[in-house]
Amino acid sequence: MAISAYVHIPFCRRRCFYCDFAITVVGAKRRGDTSGTMAQYVETLLKEIAVTPVLGSEPLKTVYFGGGTPSLLSVTQVEVILGAIAHKFGIAPNAEITLEMDPATFELDHAKGYQAAGVNRVSLGVQAFRDELLAAAGRFHRRQDIFRAVELLRQAGIENFSLDLMSGLPHQTVQDWEEALSEAIALQPQHLSIYDLIVEPQTAFSRYFIPGQAPLPSDSDTAKMYRIAQATLTASGYEHYEICNYAKPGRASQHNLTYWRCESNYGFGMGATSYLNHQRIDRPRTQKSYRAWVEALIQNGGRTKDPVIEPDEQVVETIMMGLRLPSGIKLKGVHEVYGEKGLREFSKAIAPHLQNGWLILDAVSSGIESTINPRSTDLKSTDCVRLSDPEGFLMSNVVITDAFNALDSTSTR
Ligand code: SF4
Repeated sequence: MAISAYVHIPFCRRRCFYCDFAITVVGAKRRGDTSGTMAQYVETLLKEIAVTPVLGSEPLKTVYFGGGTPSLLSVTQVEVILGAIAHKFGIAPNAEITLEMDPATFELDHAKGYQAAGVNRVSLGVQAFRDELLAAAGRFHRRQDIFRAVELLRQAGIENFSLDLMSGLPHQTVQDWEEALSEAIALQPQHLSIYDLIVEPQTAFSRYFIPGQAPLPSDSDTAKMYRIAQATLTASGYEHYEICNYAKPGRASQHNLTYWRCESNYGFGMGATSYLNHQRIDRPRTQKSYRAWVEALIQNGGRTKDPVIEPDEQVVETIMMGLRLPSGIKLKGVHEVYGEKGLREFSKAIAPHLQNGWLILDAVSSGIESTINPRSTDLKSTDCVRLSDPEGFLMSNVVITDAFNALDSTSTR
């Protein structure tokens, strides 16, 4: 059963200096063209949607247009894509329908049109409020565009919007970060996503900068920024419901929760990933190869030949994703797939993190859950572990790597 669909819209005005996403740069003027690359892409996307088999009988509860810059699509293109998805899979009347938008890529008519087409949630790529930081990151928009974009969303009746902010940008100081958080909160978003810059290979930043070295902030400053975000946002009424995400009560992203809970979801478009029947399928990352992939899919009646994920891979994935949430993970799955030995190895690997407070152990006995102080490394299959906030979340990479290595060494294959 799949109740979520992701649609990738791989067009951007320009490529930001830190970005390694699957995108096609279309320049400063084009948006929603009716011929050429964007129109051809939408056509291919519609073919993929039409040929994809339906998994389950329930209509979709979430649809997410991500990018790229989906706000470069015309209103008609969004309507047509949503119409095709509704026709094929059904969309529940109260479904969460999100469109990622970038400031300076849309006008009021577009925002109103998207809203009329069914979009009821917007994720706005703000990243920073200072023009110098935006320019140094290669962003297309500037500070004033952010305030205008939020105003346009409000005028279009879209109150449920999220802002993306980025820490660790070149030349960014802790004071810049504090000011950015205050400015973001003042705009009263329902949701905030906070990302720490990762210098990916093959990006412009990877040629200019070394992580942790000036002009990038030091590691201790980026850790400070994470702690400041956690303290500031939770004090302002946002719930820290995932490592990088904060929401007002009831406003967590229902779509992204399906990923973190490892639930089935459809993925459409160049570079998109779907997860259906324990099959994770990555689509090609260029226009030409994506078109060829869809043609092959049509020839094959909507079936792909990608390998099925093994049970132990599923468990590892569930653990990695589950640790991103404050509820953490149940150890039952580890026990079921890896047995007593696997659970013991896992316990040993995470013991130091229980001791140093990055992980918290919740013991469940007779249905009653309590947080306990771990004295032994022998965890039980009825136990749950979760990362502490903010220190555990901050060190999630270390904890997840240790957990992964322990399970990898006791792999069932
Ligand atoms: S707008 Fe987003 S997807 Fe496009 S280049 Fe910038 S970071 Fe990448």
